[in-house]
Amino acid sequence: PAQITLSHVEKRFGNGTLALRDMNLSIREGEFVSFLGPSGCGKSTALRMIAGLLEPSGGTITVNGREAGDGGDVSFVFQDATLMPWATVFDNVMLPLKLRGLGRAEARAQVEEALGMVGLTKFASSYPRELSGGMKMRVSIARAMVTKPRLLLMDEPFAALDEMTRFKLNNDVLELWRKQGLTVVFVTHSVFESVYLSSRVVVMGSRPGRVVHDLPMPEGPRDE
Ligand code: ADP
Ligand code: ADP
Repeated sequence: PAQITLSHVEKRFGNGTLALRDMNLSIREGEFVSFLGPSGCGKSTALRMIAGLLEPSGGTITVNGREAGDGGDVSFVFQDATLMPWATVFDNVMLPLKLRGLGRAEARAQVEEALGMVGLTKFASSYPRELSGGMKMRVSIARAMVTKPRLLLMDEPFAALDEMTRFKLNNDVLELWRKQGLTVVFVTHSVFESVYLSSRVVVMGSRPGRVVHDLPMPEGPRDE
């Protein structure tokens, strides 16, 4: 069954820009979908609407059987790691659990598990300024994973990093996807990244933003 559906979705911003027109898409649980397309074609807008961070101006979006934005089980990773500089790695990763009312002791095992997923167990008491860009991004991924989401949304998460770091992180994300059995929607303008990572590539075009190709990758990600 579909985990995400977009039906005749349109987004017009307040200034009149038509960012997306008649977007239709259905994503099943466990897929790794990338949105690929040039800058400005509406990839980010589509992802933010799936997350419930923006409202469509037309059409409907459902996620996990509810209207987008109406409940949990969804995590979002932004392009910059957006960590709290005054807090340790542990406290940064714990934030979503704290917001759900968990105390440090109750949260400890889950935070440690999430740090383990990204190989940063030893850095729990470090501060963001002590970490490399790639490590900060891995903290951000751990923070997204700590609530055990069914859906992970990533908006050009590694665009600001150098190519080698980016390559390593792509492999980390693939490993997470395989081990945790979650659904990933990944926005990128890199053809390599989309083909390497996904089980399906949704190619978008601009003026106005729309889906121009929807390509299943029958063999799955190409890394092995
Ligand atoms: P992409 O992620 O593919 O680069 P975006 O979704 O960021 O594209 O943007 C799609 C279009 O919507 C672009 O033309 C962009 O300028 C416009 N846009 C994005 N956000 C806003 C906003 N808040 N107000 C007005 N226009 C916006
Ligand atoms: P990035 O995540 O930015 O690619 P690297 O993995 O290249 O960072 O690591 C940069 C430096 O940070 C390494 O030389 C190493 O000393 C340290 N480092 C990064 N990740 C770990 C880790 N999981 N365990 C120990 N040290 C690490």
